[in-house]
Amino acid sequence: MEIEYNKGIYVKGVDLWLDAEKRVDFSFISHAHSDHAVRHKKILATPQTARLYEHRLGKTKIKILEFNKPTKIKGAKVELFPSGHILGASQILIEKGGVRLVYTGDFKLRGCLTAEKAEIKKCDILIMESTFGLPHYLFPPRTEIVQRIINFVDYNLKRNTTPVILAYSLGKAQEAMKILGDHGFKLSIHSSVLKLAMVYQQFGVNFKNFYEYNPNELKGKVLLAPPFLKNSKMIESIPHKKIAILTGWGIDENAKWSYGVDEVFPLSDHADFSELLEYAKESSPQKIYTVHGFPEFVVHLKNEGFDAEELKIRIKTHRLSKELLLNYDLFRTL
Ligand SMILES: [Zn+2]
Repeated sequence: MEIEYNKGIYVKGVDLWLDAEKRVDFSFISHAHSDHAVRHKKILATPQTARLYEHRLGKTKIKILEFNKPTKIKGAKVELFPSGHILGASQILIEKGGVRLVYTGDFKLRGCLTAEKAEIKKCDILIMESTFGLPHYLFPPRTEIVQRIINFVDYNLKRNTTPVILAYSLGKAQEAMKILGDHGFKLSIHSSVLKLAMVYQQFGVNFKNFYEYNPNELKGKVLLAPPFLKNSKMIESIPHKKIAILTGWGIDENAKWSYGVDEVFPLSDHADFSELLEYAKESSPQKIYTVHGFPEFVVHLKNEGFDAEELKIRIKTHRLSKELLLNYDLFRTL
C-alpha cells in the first residue's frame, strides 16, 4: 500500500483520494462538512453523506456504499463504517496485499442522538484526525453538558428572555434541535439548519416542537441559528436575549469572551484527547499518521509507544508492505 499527501490523501494502486481538498477524479468523502467536501468528478460516500453533499454542492456522480458492506475497488477490499461525527459520517478501511489501512475522517467515540455510533477496527496503518490532540481537551460527560444547556434555556425562558443557541448548521445544530425539542422546548429554527434537518428526517432522525424562524413569533421559544449570524440584525434586534455557543473549544479559558457570548457549552462532534488515545490503542496500528490537528499530538502518541508522524501539507510518499510491517514489529520488540 502506498499513500501520498498532497491536498488530500491519495492511495496509490487503489487510485482513490480520501477527502481530497482539490478537485480530483475519484474521492472518498468522509462527511459533508465543507472543509471535507469539494466538488469532484466522482465520489465514494455513504447514502446519508451523499444526500447532504448533494444538498450543499449539487448533483454529482456518486458510488454509494452503505456502512459495513465491503466492496472491491481496483483489487482492494473497501469498507465504510461509522465515525460518529455527524449523520452518515464514515471511516474507510482499505485492505490490499494483507495490509489494512484505516482513515478515520472526523470522529467521536461518545454516543449522541443524531449520528451513528462510531466503530473501531484493527488496522496496520491508521490515519487519524487530531483536532483536540492536547491533554487539556477533556470534555465533561455528555449528560452534564446536556443538562447545562437545558438549564440555560429553562432559566432564560422563565424570565421572558430569548435563549439563542449558536451551533454549526450541519451536525451540531441538528443535535441541539433533537436534545431541546425532545425535552419539550419550543424551537425557532433558522432556515439553513432546518433544510439540513429535513435531510436527517429522511434518514429516520425525527425532531419535535420546531418552527421555522419568524421574528414575530419568538416569544417562549429557543432560537437555534448558525454562529456566523451572531452579529446579524436577526439576532441583534431581539430585545431580551442570552446567547450561548456549542463548541468543543469551550474548554479553553476565556472562550466566552473570545466568542463574545454569554455562555459556551463544550458539546463537540470531535473526539477529545482521551478518545483520540483510546482510538489509537484499540485499533493497535503499526504506524499512525495524524491529520487536522495539533502537531504536538504526535509526541503524545510516541510517548504511548506508537510510531507516529503528522501528514503535512507537502507531497509525501509512504510505502508499506507486509514485510515492512513485520520489520516494524521487530524494531518495536527490540
Ligand atoms: Zn467535520
